Amino acid sequence: MPTLSATEIAFLMVACQQAVLALGWAIGAAVVPIDRRSALQWACYALLTGASVVIFIGASQTKSEELRAVANICVAIGIVLMERGVRQFTGRSAPWWAYALLVGAVVAVSWVGLAPQYGALRVATVSGLVALLCALTAWNIHVYARRDLGLAFGPWLALPLLLGAMVFAARSARAVVAPDTVVAELAVNNSLNIGSAVVFLVTALVFHLALVALVGMRLMAELRRLSRLDGLTDVFNRRAIDEQLHDEARRAVRSQRPFSVLMIDADYFKDINDRFGHAAGDDALRHLAKIMKAQMRDVDRIGRFGGEEFVVLLPGTASTEALSAAERLRDALLRRPWAWQGESMSLTVSIGVAAWRGPQDEVASLLKRADAALYRAKSLGRDRFELGS
Ligand code: GH3
Ligand code: MG
Ligand code: MG
Repeated sequence: MPTLSATEIAFLMVACQQAVLALGWAIGAAVVPIDRRSALQWACYALLTGASVVIFIGASQTKSEELRAVANICVAIGIVLMERGVRQFTGRSAPWWAYALLVGAVVAVSWVGLAPQYGALRVATVSGLVALLCALTAWNIHVYARRDLGLAFGPWLALPLLLGAMVFAARSARAVVAPDTVVAELAVNNSLNIGSAVVFLVTALVFHLALVALVGMRLMAELRRLSRLDGLTDVFNRRAIDEQLHDEARRAVRSQRPFSVLMIDADYFKDINDRFGHAAGDDALRHLAKIMKAQMRDVDRIGRFGGEEFVVLLPGTASTEALSAAERLRDALLRRPWAWQGESMSLTVSIGVAAWRGPQDEVASLLKRADAALYRAKSLGRDRFELGS
């Protein structure tokens, strides 16, 4: 049994921690229904990092340069998987050959670096690569947390990696400037190295916690998004469109900018169900929603109010343009008939239009006017729109 120095024991603790983290991500990949590919890559990253630490210790015990090269290659593949996992998680991608090139470069310098005089080249290249990938990942996490998840504390999640990037960049630079000082330094038993192991332990843990936070935030954002959508038509559900109507009313009071609503009800929809069945009715509702989405602007909000009734919120729109939007929708429905099992027919709708009247107006009375106008459109023969007064 070889005797282990305090430095080696400290690094073995790092290896144990990495093994536990790898297990955590593997379990996460199995049970959390979100981005399994990334979780598995992070599991492999932790596993390879832990393995490389053990191999480094073995290399220093046996004075084996080959083992040292293997440990370097494990580090390089691990860090590539970490970067790739984050990149895929954040919806970006990089060509596989870029990663192959990086790993190839590490294999080449590790091989060449077996000769002691090239040890510094090996350290400079591997550390430089780790620094580069840590910095790229920190940037990706920062941008994703800020832009996609809207987290104000996004930059903090990238901090552990930024720290890692700086440490490895310094090590790479030192290997270039003072090659004699870096090659065997991790094996030396001193308090600086024990301190390094402790910093590594803490930073790695914080980094993995940051990844867990990202996964959790994304899961929450996804749940929130789904809780606001109508499952059948993929437009907003009643609660979400109601919220947006109230938000828009508050904004209108502040900015004195007009807005309008369209209340849309499919004509004779019961007949579609009776004639073709409920599945056909569902498909017809999806068709209606698709045409509404195609006709409305990006800023407009479409919601299913219930059954075959929809509400469209038109921000920045006074009654005249709202009437044009209603006409556009009516026209589009005529031009794009609904097809079902070889039959094709135009769906028609009746639309009640109502415009916001100013700060004293309320969402409830706005909707009431739209509803009364819709009722009028129905009683005047359907397939038409009326302006609420
Ligand atoms: P009107 O022109 O007066 O609006 O006649 P209508 O037949 O459209 O109105 P009515 O209120 O009599 O019937 C609405 C029908 O819409 C009845 C209901 O079964 C159907 N419906 C509501 N929600 C859904 C749904 O999610 N899927 C299907 N397939 N049908 C639905
Ligand atoms: Mg109807
Ligand atoms: Mg109805």
